[in-house]
Amino acid sequence: SFYQRAHFLTAATQLHQAPADSGREVAFAGRSNAGKSSAINAICHQKALARTSKTPGRTQQLIFFELDAERRLVDLPGYGYAKVSEAVKLQWQQHLAHYLEARRSLMGLVIVMDIRHPLTDYDRQMLAWGLKGDMSLLLLLTKADKLKKGPAQAARLAVERAVSSHADRVTVQLFSAPERQGVEAVQGWLDRWLEV
Ligand code: GDP
Repeated sequence: SFYQRAHFLTAATQLHQAPADSGREVAFAGRSNAGKSSAINAICHQKALARTSKTPGRTQQLIFFELDAERRLVDLPGYGYAKVSEAVKLQWQQHLAHYLEARRSLMGLVIVMDIRHPLTDYDRQMLAWGLKGDMSLLLLLTKADKLKKGPAQAARLAVERAVSSHADRVTVQLFSAPERQGVEAVQGWLDRWLEV
């Protein structure tokens, strides 16, 4: 698949270190331990593209992966459990808000949530910032394999209801990295956003 091409481009601790704001990119956000790295790796058919975080609180950076000269995926920091001061967290939130609102090449935002704990404060904050920009959003309910089919569908419906006032821009998708559930659907969204 096209996403197998993804390779590390650069890590930015400051927005001015980000690649030029041209072409198209899609960003992935998620609270630490939600399953974001596993989701990115599954979508890109790679074992260790995004580092899975056994130790939450890794360096707070935006990681840019290049697909081709015009297209990128971006791994946003999940500051959920990060062992940093409130001041540093606040600074990072401002960076993220600015990135999400101002980045012109950003076409879509994927918010990865553990299906058992959806719509945390972090997720709601990312959702609000994403909606301020003019991108579309995909809410990925991952670890769906942890629930039986009925409860998984019920969780999806509950999240859909919670975001129903933005139904034109927000989609909810069940996902499981080990079972590869939802991988093709997510690739389909990325294809549309990146015009693959
Ligand atoms: P991140 O911090 O959001 O990047 O989360 P990781 O991708 O590192 O995943 C956190 C933990 O959840 C790891 O132990 C993963 O193996 C596990 N995990 C991630 N995705 C899934 C999934 O879809 N199903 C199950 N059962 N476990 C998952």
